[in-house]
Amino acid sequence: MIARIEPARIELFDTGLRSPLFDDLYHSGSGALNQARHVFLGGNGLPERFARAERFCILETGFGLGLNFLATVQAWRRYAPADARLDYFAVEKHPLRAGDLAQVLSRFPDCAADAEELVARWPWLMSGVYRLEFAAGRVALTLVFADVLEGLGEFEAEADAVYLDGFAPSKNPAMWSPEVFAQIARLTRPGATLATYTVAAGVRDALTSAGFAVEKRAGLPPKRSMLVARAPGTWAARLPEGGETLVIGCGYAGALVAERLVRHGQQVRLLERRSGPAQEISGNPAGLLLPALNPSDTASAQLSRAALSFALQRVQEGLGAVAKGAWGACGVLQIAALDEEFDKMRDLIATLGVPPELARLVDAAEAACLAGGPVPRGGLWYERGAWIHPAAVVEAALRSAGEALRLRYDTSVARLVREGNEWCALDGQGACLARASRVVLAPGNGLAAFAQAEGIRLITARGQLSYLPQATRALPVAVCGDGYAVPLPAGGVLLGTTFDRDEDPNLRVSDHEKNLRRVAALLPGLVPEVEANTLSGRVGFRATSPDRLPYVGELPRWHTQGPQIEREPGLYVLAGLGARGLVWAPLAAELIACQIARDPLPVAKSIVAAIDPARVLLRRKARRGAL
Ligand SMILES: Cc1cc2nc3c(=O)[nH]c(=O)nc-3n(C[C@H](O)[C@H](O)[C@H](O)COP(=O)(O)OP(=O)(O)OC[C@H]3O[C@@H](n4cnc5c(N)ncnc54)[C@H](O)[C@@H]3O)c2cc1C
Repeated sequence: MIARIEPARIELFDTGLRSPLFDDLYHSGSGALNQARHVFLGGNGLPERFARAERFCILETGFGLGLNFLATVQAWRRYAPADARLDYFAVEKHPLRAGDLAQVLSRFPDCAADAEELVARWPWLMSGVYRLEFAAGRVALTLVFADVLEGLGEFEAEADAVYLDGFAPSKNPAMWSPEVFAQIARLTRPGATLATYTVAAGVRDALTSAGFAVEKRAGLPPKRSMLVARAPGTWAARLPEGGETLVIGCGYAGALVAERLVRHGQQVRLLERRSGPAQEISGNPAGLLLPALNPSDTASAQLSRAALSFALQRVQEGLGAVAKGAWGACGVLQIAALDEEFDKMRDLIATLGVPPELARLVDAAEAACLAGGPVPRGGLWYERGAWIHPAAVVEAALRSAGEALRLRYDTSVARLVREGNEWCALDGQGACLARASRVVLAPGNGLAAFAQAEGIRLITARGQLSYLPQATRALPVAVCGDGYAVPLPAGGVLLGTTFDRDEDPNLRVSDHEKNLRRVAALLPGLVPEVEANTLSGRVGFRATSPDRLPYVGELPRWHTQGPQIEREPGLYVLAGLGARGLVWAPLAAELIACQIARDPLPVAKSIVAAIDPARVLLRRKARRGAL
């Protein structure tokens, strides 16, 4: 996908809204919600079908103003069973800017509350796949900011209903091409329905060629007609995938995956070798949430901006109970280490078309204003960047999982064995601690103990943080560059972090000195005269994959011959989170929960493949010419 997005331009007038790009109306002003209800909901037999569905998936081409979505959420709340889940996928090439969306939606007081939430969660305008949650997690909106054909091609879904709502075929033919309909046919369940406002002959023909049975119906006046269509076969609502999943490891990753599994209808058992949660890598007092941008917009960069959007939602509202003072949405300022790096940052922003709500280039004067004191040069300002206390997020996730989660501390799993159709977690004496047909390994640096993960290589990197109880002045934002400084609520500043290959678990005075020196260079005048040997701190060991991407998904069997990949059935891994785990893990946890619960995935196919643990095996096979 090309990273740059061209946002929609809109012209508002009294009764409606026009797109100058497509020279077409979005909807007819006050009739827009009626159109949503008559054409898209009514044409698909909704909300009646909601009442019979525990899982329902809608696919929309052209998200536009989001009114079809908002009307659907309203109907879902009213008619769907209380524990039902709605997945709504929408592809949009030219999304509105958040401000424009807010202005337009303010004209629809009927759906003001949901509209406000939509605007609050609206992602930054860069290409990608963004999952937003509504109605206490009962509704997942997956927005795909991409060209329609490319966006649809990135998905595996089984839609029950489809809304075709692009600009008119005469104005935007790419949205109604036979290739698009072939993708839609691929993404629909047997007997799925489809509705659209247009009766253009080309659309009818293309739908028929794609295998749909097409029918004209009465339109919403002044339009005489509209189209509905049905995929071959008999429709039956998808049933939720119940059952119990065992999670091993209660750090940030394990706790988040447990919470997500519960949200997706699973019972969860969680085993942790320590006497409490988040005592290993996730035990740091704070870490940063910020995106990773790079000029080639690699899988890592794409994953990081989708994951950051999801992580911020989860921390700020989704988990509901992350304690105040345990995270701060203060923004993060990244200071360029050298003048040349500043030039590279400028090029990066321009080349990728990075929107200011994600990252903005700031010169030294503005950077100094943001940092509340002098800085050596300018850099990037991540307005939505934040810091979090990982253990507080872990606690909130465990609380949010509620009674569907059974958690046991002081329980070390020595190995996993397959018995019949189940996995059995054994202790050091060979006694079975728990058994389940599905297991998620989230053991951080403990992964090597599990034979089924033998093909996964983790490189550990020691990092030491230093706690400065008192700075010379207040630090209003988190600052990073060569080192970082995070203002903590109690008044101190967390200084980080070293990066070494050794395995010394003890605090080193020389590392405190390094952290002090780095932050003093980043923020001249912030660090007072202080004896490094009086500082407290923490040592942690990042667990990183050789390609710097996490391992997320079902483990492969490592010793299979031939080109095909066989899997260890039901055995998943979430590990190798490196120095970005706080950003990546919430979305990675959602991905694994969807894979286990067979709910539509929150991440594009290309990213699922890039983080699949089987990539290691695929590369090995490719090198040996076995593919
Ligand atoms: C110094 C440092 C700074 C960092 N800064 C940032 C940052 O600014 N931003 C960011 O995004 N990320 C950052 N990270 C990375 C982030 O903290 C990690 O990616 C994340 O915390 C990893 O979480 P985890 O759950 O995978 O591992 P862990 O927290 O280690 O959790 C694994 C758990 O599994 C348990 N376990 C292991 N084996 C077994 C077993 N056999 N049986 C039962 N239990 C078991 C362990 O006891 C542990 O509790 C930083 C990391 C370090 C070290």
